[in-house]
Amino acid sequence: MGIAENVKAILAELGPGVGLVAAAKTRSAAEVLQAVEAGVGIVGENYVQEAAAVFPAVGRRARWHFIGRLQKNKAKKAVELFDLIETVDSAALGRELDKRAAAAGKTMEVLIEVNSGREPQKAGVLPEAAEALARELAALPRLRVLGVMTMGPFAGDPEDSRPYFAETRRVFDALRRAAIPGVEMRLLSMGMSHSWRVAVEEGSNLVRIGTAIFGPRP
Ligand SMILES: *Cc1c(COP(=O)(O)O)cnc(C)c1O
Repeated sequence: MGIAENVKAILAELGPGVGLVAAAKTRSAAEVLQAVEAGVGIVGENYVQEAAAVFPAVGRRARWHFIGRLQKNKAKKAVELFDLIETVDSAALGRELDKRAAAAGKTMEVLIEVNSGREPQKAGVLPEAAEALARELAALPRLRVLGVMTMGPFAGDPEDSRPYFAETRRVFDALRRAAIPGVEMRLLSMGMSHSWRVAVEEGSNLVRIGTAIFGPRP
């Protein structure tokens, strides 16, 4: 199947309650444009440079989510290009984004990335540290915290991802109950090509899908 058929099939199965982010790393501008024309509303990019290369073809016909690891020296460009940064996992990164957003006259939407698998080499805050980070980010006037994102450990069997999605859902619910002023728990971003059905069962309302839209990465 082609990109457009893949997008239409996934959107039909997702239904209206779950947003679809096309995870576009390594894909050409023409491929990403096809996905957007088929109905993808959000493009997810892992690298600021790649996003800048694809952006002219797509522009603001889609929203742009940053889903990679953001280096501080890329924060300025990221604030200009992206509508939402899904991967904020430290107050230092939050402060940098806040500063850049103020300079750009913009309010930056962010998600808190949770290291649900407690993997030392992985990005994200540990589940028990999410609330403290949410409070620090809430104090930054140019940031709007809108939810939580996780990757989870890579698993061949999607069922193996379920406990990590459930753990992230608990963080999301706890942050919602904490009712921190300036923090809204609207988006729960979890699930990729092989695991999105399990993620949605566990409460995800934003899935990030690359391979199942575009085919295997080169
Ligand atoms: C690549 C990527 C995805 C999508 O992965 P697929 O397995 O190709 O669907 C989702 N989220 C992030 C953060 C990624 O880097």
